[in-house]
Amino acid sequence: MQRTDVNTLGEFGLIDHLTRDFPLRQASSIKGIGDDAAVIDNGSLCTVISTDMLVEGIHFDLSYTPLKHLGFKAVVVNLSDIYAMNALPKQIVVSLAISNRFSVEALDELYEGIRAACEAYNVDLVGGDTTSSPKGMTISITAIGQCEKELLVYRSGAKPGDLICITGELGGAYLGLQILEREKYIWQENPELQPDFENQTYAVGRQLKPEARRDMIEEFRKIGLKPTSMIDISDGLASEVFHLCKQSMVGALIEESGVPINQEAQLLALKFKLDPITCALNGGEDYELLFTIRPEDIEKVKYLPDIYIAGEILEAKDGIKINTMGGNLHDLKAQGWVHF
Ligand code: ADP
Ligand code: MG
Repeated sequence: MQRTDVNTLGEFGLIDHLTRDFPLRQASSIKGIGDDAAVIDNGSLCTVISTDMLVEGIHFDLSYTPLKHLGFKAVVVNLSDIYAMNALPKQIVVSLAISNRFSVEALDELYEGIRAACEAYNVDLVGGDTTSSPKGMTISITAIGQCEKELLVYRSGAKPGDLICITGELGGAYLGLQILEREKYIWQENPELQPDFENQTYAVGRQLKPEARRDMIEEFRKIGLKPTSMIDISDGLASEVFHLCKQSMVGALIEESGVPINQEAQLLALKFKLDPITCALNGGEDYELLFTIRPEDIEKVKYLPDIYIAGEILEAKDGIKINTMGGNLHDLKAQGWVHF
């Protein structure tokens, strides 16, 4: 039998490959694989479901991630996918695989973070599963949300001429990770040295304690704005623009000058000899929302805090481009995260 390495397909290629032969059989399965969350028709309201798994050593490093922060973040990344459907999360289930390295006290800390997120986002912990693991910790969280069918926003609704919007500054979480990794390395070389975070509370905070944009979804409802498409920015702006364009069968033009980057993050990028725009395009874990609106809705968006217009949707044949500050037009490249 032939043996194909999973690396040859990559994460998204692998998902496409494994799920290619699963036609939806139930009329209530409105949206299956391919968006931030699945959608199930329950009559007047739809149920929206998303799941994420975090593996120690791949998605988190406990040498610099306090367990309380990890618990909070593990919930937030799931809620972010529910908000990305323009839906409101209501419940979570949490499954844990743990080795005997973790004490009850340590797991209490993890659950303090989970509790804090449940309080902050008004969701209920309603179940899960606990099992032992030969090594490390794996956390899998599923979030369940609700939305009126008419209010759901998919990745697939963008049309040429729509404006591309972003809810907040990008790149910070990636730079926070660079600081944490650097300090870990220094500490491993010389355990007497104390970590030096250079007062980079912004970037480190973006990495360790991200927030999901519940406030934005609530604002949309208040002002009666329904984006034409939406996705959360978990893998870097470029990768998300590709997902959105693929699902909507359109192209896009991103203006480099329209991509919001925090000033502290800009300075930090230069210190690490990184290009700030590369951090925003290809870093990850900012958990802002990328969405598109009809051009006539620009008046509504103007009254929202924190919204940046970063470009325009084009016809598919025009490709996916970025117009740099220097005025050059390039093909946008998406690296995303490489897990394997
Ligand atoms: P996100 O980054 O928003 O969490 P992913 O990139 O993880 O989304 O997943 C893309 C889509 O593929 C989603 O609809 C997700 O539910 C689906 N998916 C991912 N892994 C699998 C799998 N092993 N089996 C079935 N569907 C999957
Ligand atoms: Mg997502």
